[in-house]
Amino acid sequence: MSHEFKQLALRPELLDNLNSLGYQEMTDIQAACLPLALEGKDLIAQAKTGSGKTAAFALALLQRLNVERFRIQSLVLCPTRELADQVAKEIRRLARRVHNIKVLTLCGGMPIGPQIGSLEHGAHIVVGTPGRIQDHLRKGTLELGNIHSLVLDEADRMLDMGFADAISAILAECPGERQTQLYSATYPEGIEAISRQYQRDPQRITVSRTH
Ligand code: ADP
Ligand code: MG
Repeated sequence: MSHEFKQLALRPELLDNLNSLGYQEMTDIQAACLPLALEGKDLIAQAKTGSGKTAAFALALLQRLNVERFRIQSLVLCPTRELADQVAKEIRRLARRVHNIKVLTLCGGMPIGPQIGSLEHGAHIVVGTPGRIQDHLRKGTLELGNIHSLVLDEADRMLDMGFADAISAILAECPGERQTQLYSATYPEGIEAISRQYQRDPQRITVSRTH
């Protein structure tokens, strides 16, 4: 069965941009997740590397963003700086035709001063690693009170890297009224615990094929 992006209720600029990027058909994980994510549902999704998970959550974040409101509305947590950079790059690519969306990356291993300066200028979406996000919360340089969409990408790897406490501390700073999407390649017990604690009636999606 064909799953074309144009079947979704996405902003026309997003659809035009997908077209220009050569994205026509949704991958299986996108076809399963996007309709639910666009409704604001919590998701716990499992699919292999390379299956297109970034666009699955990024398009929902971009569609649900209030572009006029220059506040941090979405937070994506990733296990490493490399992954956060890749995710931010893909979000910026997908957002290209949507009015001036600002995506900021906040990762460890980078000097914190310039990040504080960027935060003072503001952003719509933050992508970062749990340790550095927590550092900014401790310093009072990051405000998460306007977050309505939260994504835990590669959640299993974040747990493997010992980020469970940092994730809990960050989620405690986000409003309870929010969408939480959790993406993972595997389902260890720790993932279930995070889901039980921080998600509301999560829809479970498992895709074994990549395309
Ligand atoms: P994952 O996070 O599942 O490992 P990515 O989100 O990194 O996968 O996507 C893998 C690659 O597939 C990226 O290069 C991305 O640009 C591309 N891609 C994602 N969705 C589509 C699509 N619907 N059509 C064409 N290419 C896509
Ligand atoms: Mg990924």
